[in-house]
Parts: sequence; structure tokens; C-alpha cells
Amino acid sequence: MGGTLVLKWLGESAVHIPARTLRRHCLCEDCKINKRDLAGHASPDSIANIRPLGLIGLRVRFSDGHDAGTFCWTALRALSM
Ligand SMILES: [Zn+2]
Repeated sequence: MGGTLVLKWLGESAVHIPARTLRRHCLCEDCKINKRDLAGHASPDSIANIRPLGLIGLRVRFSDGHDAGTFCWTALRALSM
């Protein structure tokens, strides 16, 4: 899909969140354990798919196949600042 997630909050201009930033903030168990490995070049640079989860947020699949993380709207809002 691309290297950034573009979010448009009501009444505001679009915000671009890089895939690498999203991945660094992934809160799944895997990423919490392997956080150090993502600091370098191993982190994926693009988003393969996005699945909306209604009021919960978004499920993002990265180019390396990782899709265990759910990004709640509150977290996405914080990343938009
Ligand atoms: Zn993760």
C-alpha cells in the first residue's frame, strides 16, 4: 500500500504516519519482546494492508507480513501529534 498511513481527523488536515513509526509503536507481545531488533534497518518500510476495526481502531499488516498489532484510535491520535 505504501510507506505511510494517512489519517484525516475530523476538521483537521491529513497526517502522515510513516510505517516505521507505526511499527515502533506496535504493542503486540512479539514487538514488545523484540523491540531492540526494530531499532535498526530490520524494520519494515511499508504497509501491506489495513483493516478497519470499527470503534476499536486499525489492524495494520506490514510488508514483512507482521500483522499481530492493533492500533487503537487513541494511540493513532497520539502518533498524529
Ligand atoms: Zn507487533
